[in-house]
Amino acid sequence: MQSFLLTHELAVRLAFFGGLLALLATWELATPWRPSVLPRLARWRTNLGLSVAGAVLVRFALPAAAMGVALWCEVKEIGLFNQFDAPVALSLPLSLLALDLLIYAQHAAFHYVPLFWRMHRVHHADPEIDVTTAVRFHPLEILASMGIKMAAVAALGVPPVAVLIFEVALNAMAMFNHSNVKLPPRIERSLRSVIVTPDMHRIHHSVRRDEHDMNFGFNLSLWDRAFGTYRESPQGGAENLRIGLDAYKGAEPTRLFWSLALPFLDGARPDTASDGQRQENA
Ligand SMILES: [Zn+2]
Ligand SMILES: [Zn+2]
Repeated sequence: MQSFLLTHELAVRLAFFGGLLALLATWELATPWRPSVLPRLARWRTNLGLSVAGAVLVRFALPAAAMGVALWCEVKEIGLFNQFDAPVALSLPLSLLALDLLIYAQHAAFHYVPLFWRMHRVHHADPEIDVTTAVRFHPLEILASMGIKMAAVAALGVPPVAVLIFEVALNAMAMFNHSNVKLPPRIERSLRSVIVTPDMHRIHHSVRRDEHDMNFGFNLSLWDRAFGTYRESPQGGAENLRIGLDAYKGAEPTRLFWSLALPFLDGARPDTASDGQRQENA
């Protein structure tokens, strides 16, 4: 199983991405949480364009990626799990938990460190939220995330198969919890006790800073509950939740070149009309 996953790595990634994109986009069209107002083509082109630009940048700047680091550390016996020759049955779940906690902490850091927020606000500037928002990250944020993940993989000695499973699961979960779909309330509540649901992550895309600085998790909902960043519902209810950043309204965030330039644009504007104006003069 492990060797099948590793030899067909690219096919596994593309199959999950393409399959879920088709499935969730169809679900969004059939029963949307909120009808789309903006031209879908422009948003999708920009969000998917940012994703391609990020993949190309990582390919050139960090070609080994997290998987390359994991394979190298396994051969050289570098990292915590490789020191103890830990069985995969132990190192795999522990690695998945550790990487999920790392991604939670990294996401919080991208909100609180002004230089990181300049990059991460590209994700939040999307004025609507759907399955493509899951891949709307500035290429520099993708590069920084990869660098952090590579360091963690080396330190822990994460098995290569765990890297692949984590990256595919994170991608799939991000697509699910950004999707513009409605879940039956009972199912939503049960799912949310374990994983991050669309209703939970949507609060993280609120224009209000006291809401978008909450619900940082991508996979397990555990971390937000454990570290006091869990927000159950938005102020005024889900039907009044406003998505995006107030500073960047209109068509600009749906343009690719504007989105690529956003980290370098004048950052003096507050990004929320409500409490807690964010200082962006980093
Ligand atoms: Zn965020
Ligand atoms: Zn998001």
